Amino acid sequence: MNQKTYYIEVLLPLYLKALIYSVPTEMRGSLKTGVRVIVPLGNRKIYSGIVVGICENTETGFETRDILGIIDETPVITAPQLELWKWIAGYYMCTLGEVMKAALPAYLKMESRTKVALNRADCSDLPGNAGLDSLDRQIIACLSDGQLSMEDLAKKTGRKNILPNIGKLLDAGIIGIEEELINNYRSKYRSFVSLHPDIDSEEKLGRLLDSLTKSRRQEQLLLKYIELASPLDFVYPLEIPKNELLDKSGVSESVYRSCEEKGILISVKKKIDRLGNTAATLKEQPELSPAQQKAFEELRAADRPALLHGITSSGKTEIYIKLIDAALNEGKQVLYLLPEIALTTQIIERLRAVFGSRMGVYHSSFSDAERTEAYNNLLKFNPRDGSACGDGYPEVSCGEGILGVRSSLLLPFRNLGLIIVDEEHETTYKQYDPAPRYNARDAAVILGRIHGAKVVLGSATPSLESYYNALQGKYDLIRLTERYGKAVLPEIRTIDMKRAFWKKKIVSNFSETLLNAIRSALERKEQIILFQNRRGFSPFVQCADCGHVAKCRYCDVSLTYHKYTGALTCHYCGYSIPMPPKCPSCNSPNIKTRGFGTEKIEDELSLLIPEAKIERLDLDSTKSKYAYQRILSGFEAHAVDILVGTQMITKGLDFGNVSLVGIMDADSLLTFPDFRAYERSFQLMSQVAGRAGRKDRPGEVIIQTTTPENPVIRQVIKYDYDSFFATQLNERRMFNYPPFCRLIVLSIKHSRQDVLNEAGNALKAMLLKTFGKDLAGPEPPPIGRIQNRYILNFRIKLKKNSSINPYKHLINTAFIQLKSEKKYAGIITVADVDPM
Ligand code: ADP
Ligand code: ZN
Ligand code: ZN
Repeated sequence: MNQKTYYIEVLLPLYLKALIYSVPTEMRGSLKTGVRVIVPLGNRKIYSGIVVGICENTETGFETRDILGIIDETPVITAPQLELWKWIAGYYMCTLGEVMKAALPAYLKMESRTKVALNRADCSDLPGNAGLDSLDRQIIACLSDGQLSMEDLAKKTGRKNILPNIGKLLDAGIIGIEEELINNYRSKYRSFVSLHPDIDSEEKLGRLLDSLTKSRRQEQLLLKYIELASPLDFVYPLEIPKNELLDKSGVSESVYRSCEEKGILISVKKKIDRLGNTAATLKEQPELSPAQQKAFEELRAADRPALLHGITSSGKTEIYIKLIDAALNEGKQVLYLLPEIALTTQIIERLRAVFGSRMGVYHSSFSDAERTEAYNNLLKFNPRDGSACGDGYPEVSCGEGILGVRSSLLLPFRNLGLIIVDEEHETTYKQYDPAPRYNARDAAVILGRIHGAKVVLGSATPSLESYYNALQGKYDLIRLTERYGKAVLPEIRTIDMKRAFWKKKIVSNFSETLLNAIRSALERKEQIILFQNRRGFSPFVQCADCGHVAKCRYCDVSLTYHKYTGALTCHYCGYSIPMPPKCPSCNSPNIKTRGFGTEKIEDELSLLIPEAKIERLDLDSTKSKYAYQRILSGFEAHAVDILVGTQMITKGLDFGNVSLVGIMDADSLLTFPDFRAYERSFQLMSQVAGRAGRKDRPGEVIIQTTTPENPVIRQVIKYDYDSFFATQLNERRMFNYPPFCRLIVLSIKHSRQDVLNEAGNALKAMLLKTFGKDLAGPEPPPIGRIQNRYILNFRIKLKKNSSINPYKHLINTAFIQLKSEKKYAGIITVADVDPM
């Protein structure tokens, strides 16, 4: 045959690189990069994968298999998106497939075992029902008895290539994937009301109103519509949600129906997106203060990534809002990143009040359906100014902006104009497990470069890395040094807990000073936040007679006592046993709780100040879906006086009535075994202190510590970021830590310690050749065994400016070589670039 060979690279959501497939002649016409195709893999499986490359006429040198079909007409990923994925895979040492897996919502990752089910038994009212073909109907019929895997569906319908139809039915919301989706991906349809098109002038409307004087309720309804839709546009009459209109006019459904029958109003059913983005009441934006205005202009002018260093409550968020507004008005997209727990309804509502539906939300607690929707909206992005970006989508503007967490960085943006990384110092921007182990802050800078977008990193306590970059001239540095409205920063005091102890001025875990401050704040009807960075009742329990400490069976850590559940629990693997009545080692009943967590603080406080209303905010108290929100709104509404919490309470919350913040135990932060412990302590203490005295109330912060002279504590008290930065940077330079080197941590894990130790030595021998004295290890991390796997770490410190790709290749090769030996085959290898 004299035909050109036609190959494509297909990316699958597996731990693989892109695979090469060939394309049958009849399919070539409709193939584009970015669309999904169906491919066979192994003997029996089929997968949907994404075309990431088309190569005509290349010789593969091996036999390739044909693709089975093409699913999409338009691409499901965008070119800049794929470019970022490739950068992440390269820089963070993982495969493109792993990035893809993290980025795509489940429905874009179908494979033969994926189960689908019917969302609704009755499809008659769906728009486009007429568009169903016979295979669609056959699939619906097969699913009417319950969910089926794609494999089984293919068998039942007797058709090999059902994925395109499945895709269509999914899009229409008729079917859903896996249990999670079955209940959730139900497209929500809602009725919207507008003026009948026949009423196309003021005159006609006037006459109509005159004719309604006898039907008072109908008149009432029409007047309400006119009021809500004002100013009236007769060409494109505003559509108002029907339930809202009925609610506000106070008339019944039957009154509405008579209006419809008379040809006054009409209604349409529309699919609304489930982020709740319907007509929000838009609020006027406040004027920026002169200091904010100056920062805003500097940020607008910046032609590099910019670091906005603004103290807590200096009004950074208001500046972000102005920046977003400017970018949207230019017809560009916006990405506003926040750490997971800082993404609260507080911030969502603040943005929604200004931008309404223009900013979508992307949160990891959303269902896959919700994430799918955000994903699809971005794909269909069309700016309001009409300049075309979408692939011929005629729809109304959507996908303009996303407020989201780390993973929203991986979404299909087309034309970003602005990326904001708020609280840029947060360690949760780094994904640890599973791969891709990327830092969203650093990847955001790359994404900005890909789109030519402005990147703003904001924080009251910037990370050493970013601040160093700013001082080096890699980033622009913009400062806000005063709080908005001249609110003053709270005064911070330390209490020396050792002295207080000897002077007998400690009750339970409270110094007298802190207790008195709490009491007088309560008298003034002000609220209090108490911060303790440990959850549970006590981090360990110990036998007072023999010293035995209860440990996890599977991890090398002590078990935390939770009084509420009466159990000893491992915070690493979840292993849990009832609190033993006697010491398992010497049978003594004398078992003591040691140290304290949030639960114990709450417990003690309720005994010391029984009249106070106390709530706790930590991982344990927020397990149910809305608990976090409930606790925060309760506190905001002052239904609660004292909020005790872990670092969850430090994130970007803005409460007007908090006048006192207590840091229960600064020592536990400062002694954490990690080179970033001081940096984190400074950030956490400064952030939690910033919760006190916002708006017009002066606040007070009390830090309990046994080392009040610790330089970090002194720097926190004086709000002296610059001196904190200088001392920490100096230490990093002395011991050659980031930002002076690029750190890669390699971990190997295995259930047998002897095998692991041997493997550690073998790996060391391989790595030593290349890295020499830049290599440290193997050594066990502070917790040397987790979930029954022993762990050994290596640290590699590479020069900052050297190209690191060849080294990464060497590391991967060493891993492969190690595992090719039979006795080491079961070893898990992990490479973590720029660990946090
Ligand atoms: P940050 O993000 O720096 O902590 P915020 O943007 O949350 O600070 O501002 C702190 C408080 O000041 C908020 O309650 C905010 O509404 C208010 N605020 C900030 N800037 C303005 C402004 N220009 N006009 C009115 N209120 C403002
Ligand atoms: Zn004992
Ligand atoms: Zn454990």
